[in-house]
Amino acid sequence: MKSQIGVYICHCGLNIANTVDVEQVREFARILPNVAIARNYTYMCSDPGQALITNDIRDLGLTHVVVASCSPRMHEPTFRATIHKAGLNPYVLEMANIREQCSWVHSDRTLATLKAMDLIASAVAKVALLVPLQEREVKVTQSALVIGGGIAGMTATLDIANAGFQVCLVEKQTHLGGRVAQLDTTFPTQERVADLLAPVLRAITTHPNIRVITNADVEKVDGFIGNFRATIRARPTFVDAMKCDACGKCVDACPVNVPDAFDANLTTRRAIYRAPDARFVIDARACSFVQDRVCRSDPRCAAVCDRNAIDFSQTENLVEINIGAIIVATGAATFDATKKPELGFGTYSNVITSLQFERLAARQELQSVKDVVFVSCVGSRDATTGNTYCSRVCCMVNAKQARRIQEKFPDARVTVFYADVRAFGKGHEEFYDAVRKTGVRYRRGYVSEIFAAGGQTPKRDQKLIVRAEDTLIQKPIEVSADLVVLGIGMTPRAETNEIANVLGLPRSGDGFLLEIHPKLRPVETAVDGVFLAGACQGPKDIVDTIAQARAAASSAFASLCRGQVKIESATARVDEEVCAGCGLCVATCPYGAPALIARTGTARVNQVLCKGCGACEAACPSKAIQVMQCTPRQVLAQIAVLA
Ligand code: SF4
Ligand code: SF4
Ligand code: SF4
Ligand code: SF4
Repeated sequence: MKSQIGVYICHCGLNIANTVDVEQVREFARILPNVAIARNYTYMCSDPGQALITNDIRDLGLTHVVVASCSPRMHEPTFRATIHKAGLNPYVLEMANIREQCSWVHSDRTLATLKAMDLIASAVAKVALLVPLQEREVKVTQSALVIGGGIAGMTATLDIANAGFQVCLVEKQTHLGGRVAQLDTTFPTQERVADLLAPVLRAITTHPNIRVITNADVEKVDGFIGNFRATIRARPTFVDAMKCDACGKCVDACPVNVPDAFDANLTTRRAIYRAPDARFVIDARACSFVQDRVCRSDPRCAAVCDRNAIDFSQTENLVEINIGAIIVATGAATFDATKKPELGFGTYSNVITSLQFERLAARQELQSVKDVVFVSCVGSRDATTGNTYCSRVCCMVNAKQARRIQEKFPDARVTVFYADVRAFGKGHEEFYDAVRKTGVRYRRGYVSEIFAAGGQTPKRDQKLIVRAEDTLIQKPIEVSADLVVLGIGMTPRAETNEIANVLGLPRSGDGFLLEIHPKLRPVETAVDGVFLAGACQGPKDIVDTIAQARAAASSAFASLCRGQVKIESATARVDEEVCAGCGLCVATCPYGAPALIARTGTARVNQVLCKGCGACEAACPSKAIQVMQCTPRQVLAQIAVLA
């Protein structure tokens, strides 16, 4: 049967029509081989635009459709659904990208119009060779895995559990709460974080649908959307929680002192310690019995424990679970301020980070001070550190902490050095205004150096001079300080690479985990069924973190609810008659879809894992593997009309 092709050219408002003569392109498309109708319209993705297509399919009996508009990443699913609604197979659609690949990158109207014509001619040549493909669905295991027990992971876990599905929450630390548990108050509402977290923790630990595994890592994930199998390695704490009565004698007996990371290294703790959730645990990396040092033959904690709660016979435990969806909520690290030695962190004890300020405030240990300086953007928007992105929190954290000082010590002189104040969230601008009204002085400027007053050799706790360039008056200035607080930004966690490798997730240039599309699909990843929540995807405050966690949970339980999920049909297939069994496709595929079959010695593609990316097709020296809707015949037809 002869193809009847409809060509639909979108103006995209003026995005395309400003640079491309859409009417001239329509006239050109109308006379291409097999084209029955060509139209242009302001917004082809709008309801009236889609109605043009569906009406023509029904009235003119179109067999194939070309839409010339934006990138297929944006609207291919929209137009596939449009033609499907009118009775066509969704896979007899081809898109010509005349926006990102034409109008947005050219300014010469004549040349852009000619290029749009070429792109459309090429799409028309290909679409006639497209064949209908069967839509496919796979069954979904109706439970989820959430990796990371901070506020993002806990929020997503509760949402999925409350929707009636089983959730396994895995946390690397021995306790839940993540970064938020270290904070004193929130901004702009200044609520106590401990009060906000307590009901969440209670709900998590008592929920019948939630299984929590702490002190654990997700070591391996096999499978595909709806049918993942995860292997979790849970480490021992060496303290039997059922026997321990929290007397604390073991802590006094322990000879090992290490910096307390939960306390932002302001204090130390023993190798055995009371974790933030009040359980006693042993830090295996610090414990001298585990590491075969001081306690090697006689663990002192065990000797003083009347309840025999110390149990060094505990071993690692491998847990395997089947799940249908995975949410990654592994959070972010804080910038290491020693990478900016000119700011004196690590040299002067009265130069602290904003996280250390939170710990002091949470413990009610803020000391009376006269001159306090806050410095914004430390490790953010700073090419010298490699972090060019905004931390999205340090402006408001500085404002909150400056207000805290001003209110607690009304005679204090508080100065905030800022690059720009980014108070973009709800209530943030009003909060910033209120902080300035308390007497906090904001100075626009870059801090170049912090040093001891009088030029003495550095002593740890002494009057400091903060030298900066005031960028409004364009003059160098110096401000003295008893306390300097560095507003540190966020960086990707060191373990981000591990989880990216386990799940096959890509990372963006800044090292955070990468979503599919920042606007249209901000919680989905390149791996179907794996979603992102919170700061593992990029810096976020608590409000945005919770919003994204709830979005990730909704995306996950959309497929869990249905019990089955649609998967891509335009996948790679191997012609076993031609395949030489060289395995190049296996090595090339980023999704682990092809495998060599021992019995035949040829490759076979797991159709559920394959994303149709085409990498294997380019690599195969025998032309044995082909992606449906992108076969050599179809691609050569596209090239031929351009020659
Ligand atoms: Fe628990 Fe024993 Fe330590 Fe007491 S001495 S806190 S019972 S482990
Ligand atoms: Fe501390 Fe020794 Fe007990 Fe380890 S074995 S926790 S080092 S007292
Ligand atoms: Fe893997 Fe892409 Fe080939 Fe599919 S098309 S098997 S995802 S390389
Ligand atoms: Fe077969 Fe081609 Fe894969 Fe080699 S690259 S195993 S020839 S399909």
